[in-house]
Amino acid sequence: MIPVNEPLLNGNEKKYLTECIDTGWISSEGPFVSRFEQGIAARVSRRHGIAVSNGSVALEMAVAALGIGKGDEVIIPTFTIISCAAAVVRAGAVPALIDSDPITWNMDIKQIEARITSKTKAIMVVHIYGLPVDMDPILELAEKYHLLIIEDAAEMLGQTYKGRPCGSFGNISTVSFYPNKHVTTGEGGMVLTNDDVLAEKCRSLRNLCFQEKKRFIHEELGWNFRMTNLQAALGIAQLEQLDAFVAKKHKMGQKYTEMLSDIKSIDLPVQRTDYAENIYWVYGIVLKDEIPLDAEEVMKQLGKKGIGTRPFFWPMHEQPAFRKTALFEKESYPVAERISRRGFYIPSGLALTENQINEVSRALHEVLA
Ligand SMILES: *Cc1c(COP(=O)(O)O)cnc(C)c1O
Repeated sequence: MIPVNEPLLNGNEKKYLTECIDTGWISSEGPFVSRFEQGIAARVSRRHGIAVSNGSVALEMAVAALGIGKGDEVIIPTFTIISCAAAVVRAGAVPALIDSDPITWNMDIKQIEARITSKTKAIMVVHIYGLPVDMDPILELAEKYHLLIIEDAAEMLGQTYKGRPCGSFGNISTVSFYPNKHVTTGEGGMVLTNDDVLAEKCRSLRNLCFQEKKRFIHEELGWNFRMTNLQAALGIAQLEQLDAFVAKKHKMGQKYTEMLSDIKSIDLPVQRTDYAENIYWVYGIVLKDEIPLDAEEVMKQLGKKGIGTRPFFWPMHEQPAFRKTALFEKESYPVAERISRRGFYIPSGLALTENQINEVSRALHEVLA
């Protein structure tokens, strides 16, 4: 079986982990945590990094730190991971959804302005699968309408937009260190900002809002979202290899495109836009309408041939968890609905070998012949 993702852990991971065990520093108090925070922040040109337990809670904390809550609306793509919408809904705010661009699969920025109301407080930008969102028009809208920007760069560490690092845009950005991301800590995430006050707020929220002088008296409610020294040790070793990892993803994507472009019934990821080269966080495929199979059926057939796959995201407006609360009633976003039914991704992990790419390509040719 070729798994859909396998991480690469052959740098200094073992060495730094051993250091944690030898020194006894395993909790969030250990020295690797702030080193990792500084390393990631420097990498994306941010002043502050606040490490947390995963990318989903990073979003939750970002929303809370910005003071988003009841009565507010936050513009987000409908085609994304549930974490984005969950962070907004848990804060008591309402997500205002945007359909996808059929070419990049990112949110269609042309539709944003029409969604802005007097209640709109923020735009949550999510870079999806390999290409960044076109940021300049969004930054202009934010300025024009006085909106906050949260940038979910979970899939885009190491990517740039017009030469500027993803993770450096807006008031706050977040990343994830899940094992399929470009830097992994097993589980983990980070909030990034240039704003000293926001950073302090996040540090406090992450740590139950303990106070320095009166430790067990809490003025506000926080969470325990702390990252351990063990996780940060892995992260530092991974970060040392980020450039090589991104280069490897890029090469993987180019090789897949070379091998699959003769299959007429599928759309492949676009290789570049005006502002970025695709770095193929995952290699997505969308079945054209003329073929009668949907993604589920093709994935089943690939599975029988030993090829691991994952479906595309399922749109937020079609999530039973939200529909049951009457959110997004009667809303329809045709592009997201189509790509979620006809899209899936093939093995794209950093440990993927050239032979495995050949094998995946062979299987796809057989199934789609
Ligand atoms: C992975 C991911 C997250 C969530 O990160 P976890 O660490 O898995 O909680 C959030 N947003 C996007 C776009 C992601 O791809």
